[in-house]
Amino acid sequence: MKMYCNKCKKEVEPVMETFNSEFYTNDKKYKYRAFRGYCPECNSLLEEDPNMNLKSKDKAYRKAEGIITAKQINQIYEQYEITDEKLADILGCNSKQVVKLKNGNDIPTKEESEILTKILEDQAYFKSLMQ
Ligand SMILES: [Zn+2]
Repeated sequence: MKMYCNKCKKEVEPVMETFNSEFYTNDKKYKYRAFRGYCPECNSLLEEDPNMNLKSKDKAYRKAEGIITAKQINQIYEQYEITDEKLADILGCNSKQVVKLKNGNDIPTKEESEILTKILEDQAYFKSLMQ
């Protein structure tokens, strides 16, 4: 992924480095592994791409809050025969929202996450929901 160097006035292939950082969400502090890039020619720190650390922040947030991951949500589909519509029905949202959760484009609420985790781990619970 190329980044722009303000000093060299051009796009460069950055030298990447990871470091420990923090961010706040709802006044709570989360630690995460962040990335930053340096210009290979002049060595200056390049401006952070706002998307660069999103995945890492997402991961840290889910881990700290015990929120189910998109990968685990996809496991539900592998494990059971279920449609987006049915899962939306169970969660009390619409199927568009379920697709977002599945693709990792949105993070489930704590309540949704608890239901999804229980479905994944407890077949009997899933069966009771399908009746
Ligand atoms: Zn440079």
